[in-house]
Amino acid sequence: MIAGENSMIWNERYECMSRDEMKEVQGERLREMIERVYYNVPFYRKKMQDLGIEPSDVRGIDDLDKLPFTTKQDLRDNYPFGLFAVPKSEVVRVHASSGTTGDPTVVGYTRKDIGTWSEVVARTLSACGVSRDDVIQVAYGYGLFTGGLGVHYGSERIGATVVPISGGNTKKQIKLLKDFETTVLACTPSYSLYISEVLEEMNIDPKDLPLRVGIFGAEPWTNSMRKEIEEKLKIKAFDIYGLSEIIGPGVACECEHQTGLHIIEDHFIPEVVDKDTLKPLGYEENGELVFTTVTKEALPLIRYRTKDLTILHPDKCSCGRTSVRMDKVTGRTDDMLIIRGVNIFPSQIESILLEMGETKPHYMLIVDRINNLDTLEVWIEINEEYFSDEIKKLQSLSMKIKHTIESTLGVSVKVKLVEPKTIQRSEGKAQRVIDKRKK
Ligand SMILES: [Zn+2]
Repeated sequence: MIAGENSMIWNERYECMSRDEMKEVQGERLREMIERVYYNVPFYRKKMQDLGIEPSDVRGIDDLDKLPFTTKQDLRDNYPFGLFAVPKSEVVRVHASSGTTGDPTVVGYTRKDIGTWSEVVARTLSACGVSRDDVIQVAYGYGLFTGGLGVHYGSERIGATVVPISGGNTKKQIKLLKDFETTVLACTPSYSLYISEVLEEMNIDPKDLPLRVGIFGAEPWTNSMRKEIEEKLKIKAFDIYGLSEIIGPGVACECEHQTGLHIIEDHFIPEVVDKDTLKPLGYEENGELVFTTVTKEALPLIRYRTKDLTILHPDKCSCGRTSVRMDKVTGRTDDMLIIRGVNIFPSQIESILLEMGETKPHYMLIVDRINNLDTLEVWIEINEEYFSDEIKKLQSLSMKIKHTIESTLGVSVKVKLVEPKTIQRSEGKAQRVIDKRKK
């Protein structure tokens, strides 16, 4: 099917097959993958032998829970190419994630893997209504990060006109948005907000731009943030999900109904497990998302723990796709802050701040431990009109924010209102938490 015609489903056979048929496809691909991994990756052979299982024990996806998990640490321990299942001569590309500490995580692709990646990104872009008639400006970073090149190849696959500008250089981004009549912007949600600010500074009304769709991912963002971005840029904003270990962007994406993200399940089998006990959970239960990549050749991963928290929904979507949908990821197990015993996700504070309406979508959380007591300080930019107000008004606004956060989260906070544009803007992934306790 040619995307851009009457349907926006790129691969109807796989995206709309019955649940039973999907289970068959997944089972067959899983058996084949386990066989390959067992004989080609000593790390997995040992893990399976330790658990007393052989490839013949895996008959279908109901046997998934017999298999071992894989973690980011396993990739690090086997740095750089220890988990590859093919000889290096078969690998046509590598990417790597920036490790803040220690070795980066390296991922590899065969020629077929690059084809698979283009296919899955093509499906996700089509779900967002992108077609060959669009001009897509790819403002994700190009390089070792998978964002730029991943979206790039998928966009070419559907025949859109790709503008490979990469991240940063915001004034030039805006010039090209105008001159090239860009209709689709792909970048991190935080960078799209920064672009909207610079547009404002340049006195350009987003309504005068042909831009209509945003493909945003690579960091968790809330629906309140979506509303903010849609209003500021006058576009429809879609959430695209992916991670380099699984393939990069293109693992899942929203459709026009935006009731969760459709997972490309014939390539990536999802599970949700309890984040502490690792026991598999059912549909509609909240837990850690785990993927098994059944078609990847260079770096097939068994039950990779993403650390992202979500819920899976199996019911059919009104768009016609039958794939399982995952909730928008707004928290990661390693994002969770424990403040005096209370679990808090930065996304909860983001929602509260944005829904109040008096502040800008730019904030910072500073966590510290003073006299053995955890402290949480929220820095938040307020709208210009409030900043010129008298001190008394500012104090009452700050008290209002403090009370709202405290009554919602049950933990005491210190609120600091800062001038517009004080908090550092990001051209890639935003850093919103400074945890001084981790020093
Ligand atoms: Zn749908």
